[in-house]
Amino acid sequence: MQAVVNPPEVDRLAGSRAAVAARRARAEVKRQVSSGERSASEVLSAAARDGAQPEATMRVSELIASIPWLGPTRTAKIMQELRISPSKRLGGLGVHQYQRLHEFLVRRQAPRRLPEPDAPRSRLVVLAGPTAVGKGTVAAHIREHYPDVLLSVSATTRPPRPGEVDGVHYYFLSDEQFDRMVEAGQFLEWAQVHNAYRYGTPRQPIEAALAGGRSVLLEIDIQGARQVRQAFPEARLVFLLPPTWEELVRRLEGRGTEDEEERTRRLDTAQTELAAQEEFDAAVVNTRVEDAAREVVSLMSV
Ligand code: 5GP
Repeated sequence: MQAVVNPPEVDRLAGSRAAVAARRARAEVKRQVSSGERSASEVLSAAARDGAQPEATMRVSELIASIPWLGPTRTAKIMQELRISPSKRLGGLGVHQYQRLHEFLVRRQAPRRLPEPDAPRSRLVVLAGPTAVGKGTVAAHIREHYPDVLLSVSATTRPPRPGEVDGVHYYFLSDEQFDRMVEAGQFLEWAQVHNAYRYGTPRQPIEAALAGGRSVLLEIDIQGARQVRQAFPEARLVFLLPPTWEELVRRLEGRGTEDEEERTRRLDTAQTELAAQEEFDAAVVNTRVEDAAREVVSLMSV
């Protein structure tokens, strides 16, 4: 009988060090994709060019899950549609699988592009996006650092959260007060959001600011964004994206302002909202608030 030969200790150590280095390299690739520094299709091309690169050892599912806004459920569905098994690595794809994946990635990337420096500018920019993506934080940053931009104050029937000030964060109205403004045509748009409260953009301050040559930012939901497009076809619709689905869930849970039932309802709405991003003129990934704010303002003629 032949004796089992164990690899010498040094080989085993070198092997595990190489495995750690490879894992780190793959984590770095995922970070680059999720931050928008690198596109997923570039990673796929790198894997095809050189099978010895960390890209080639990455699982297809890992790559897809790193794409901003794609969560585990959608990733699993996409893998099924592409007919690629969950354990498949980028370096091990068959020709047809490669082609299907490549086409999918190129198609998905198009609406995620960041605004080009020469993108058309507009005095009226609508910032929309799924719940908890950080629209409010980006808008607050713009209010503080770009005082030339008018940030519209919406009216709502929702009660104030701790720290929210009437007339600054929202105009907090009763149902009857909101009804009266609707009837008087005082809203540029309004919508019931998350099947709960009503929110609306008062028309007069917006029209006055635009007439005075000021840029205006509306931070509203997607139904509202669609209404603004009808009323002002020249408005720029900007979609704010989370770096990843997991990050969106983390931000919503970390905020701690909603109970379990409300969080579930908002995450359901977020799934539908993410699907609407193709209707928008530009997409901005909210990785760092100040970068996202700068990109949004760059779309305005301040
Ligand atoms: P929150 O209750 O967390 O402040 O806001 C809930 C949602 O209402 C957010 O998605 C926010 O963008 C949206 N929202 C805030 N103001 C308006 C508005 O004037 N019109 C519309 N349509 N949505 C708004």
